[in-house]
Amino acid sequence: MLQKGKKLYGIIHQRCPACHEGPLFEEAGYFDFKKMGKTHDACPHCGQDYRIEPGFYWGALYIAYGFSVFVSLLMFLLFYLLFGLSLNASFLLLVIADLMLTPFLYKLSKTLWLHVFVSYRHPSK
Ligand SMILES: [Zn+2]
Repeated sequence: MLQKGKKLYGIIHQRCPACHEGPLFEEAGYFDFKKMGKTHDACPHCGQDYRIEPGFYWGALYIAYGFSVFVSLLMFLLFYLLFGLSLNASFLLLVIADLMLTPFLYKLSKTLWLHVFVSYRHPSK
């Protein structure tokens, strides 16, 4: 099951990779466009630095790009082949779906990127 100490727990709950307690993002929602994907400077619970180096989160764009391509292919296959919609209608729907998923995928990719580089530290250690 999902429990603290497992990477998946921290990623799904968008928590600090070091303690799995502090929130990663300033805003918990997805559609506050002023603070979309804005991380705290450091973990409010354990002080883990969230900005490891200047431009650290540029790498997360590669993950976001991969997610976006995957979702686009999936949506196209769903709309065009499964539902039998026209090419133009399928493309329009996949663009709308991609735009709606962008805030979620952006936060997920930043969370994944930070979790790649920072490991969980058990509180007793
Ligand atoms: Zn922390």
